[in-house]
Amino acid sequence: MFPTKKFTFYLLFTLAFLRAATSSETNQNFNLTEIAENNYAHLGKHVSIENRGNDDIANIGFIIGADCVAIIDTGGSINIGKKLKNSIHKITKKPICYVINTHVHFDHILGNKAFVNKNTNFVGHKNLAEAINQNRDFFLTQFKNNLSPDAKMSDIISPNILIEESTQLELGGRTLTLIPFTISHSHSDLIVIDNKTKTLWSGDLIFRERIPSLTGSLKGWLEAIEKIKKLDVKVVVPGHGDVASSLNDAIKKQEDYLNLLLNETRQAINEGKFINEAMETIDKDNQLKWILHDYQHSTNINRAYTELEWE
Ligand SMILES: [Zn+2]
Repeated sequence: MFPTKKFTFYLLFTLAFLRAATSSETNQNFNLTEIAENNYAHLGKHVSIENRGNDDIANIGFIIGADCVAIIDTGGSINIGKKLKNSIHKITKKPICYVINTHVHFDHILGNKAFVNKNTNFVGHKNLAEAINQNRDFFLTQFKNNLSPDAKMSDIISPNILIEESTQLELGGRTLTLIPFTISHSHSDLIVIDNKTKTLWSGDLIFRERIPSLTGSLKGWLEAIEKIKKLDVKVVVPGHGDVASSLNDAIKKQEDYLNLLLNETRQAINEGKFINEAMETIDKDNQLKWILHDYQHSTNINRAYTELEWE
């Protein structure tokens, strides 16, 4: 039987409705957005790490190749890791071959447990396994609720592939370039580039909107930014904050802030100011209007001062 005109209309209407329903479902699917072809990002919220919801503050996501999927960061709890995993299965049935962690901070790695599988490799900076070892106790006491009520040391998953130099991972028709950095935002920073779409997943080497948190080296971080500026990329997924469509948009404000921190802390030291005086004066008025400035800025000055006083 050939469909009548009316039937064809209903069929097309139904198909269009189903397609719309599927795409809105994808949007509701853990707020995942396809930010470049086969690159999906879930953006974290700007909540203080001491508050409820601290497990969902980092940007996390995944890249789909012809053969398999690579995850980039897993969130700050096993629960967030599970949500990410479930949302991936609604988009692709391909296996997850790599979980890449951009650095050691809890908000990027505690979801790893959700992805443990004999076919999945965990990948990180050459310093990451050691950094996780050093932080296991801290994670277990500080973020027990983000793991499980009976959490054990072994619930915090370390990388089994350590990256010492620029390295390529194959997903099938799609190559990722991983570049490790020396001490900068942390001691274990690694970036991921999807070569096909020129998408940079920077981890916390780039913050937008949310104030950067310095736990490594201020001078090292500024050097890392100089290297990142030379990359040929079109889309930037920062560790925190909105996706950017150019490197300049992604980096400018953070670079201004880190330079301000460098110059004004150096000046305070040269003027013989003590650390608490420096903390009381430098960028008190939050010139660049960062979110959570009150919470994080004085910790950054403390770190900068300790680094620069030995120059
Ligand atoms: Zn971090």
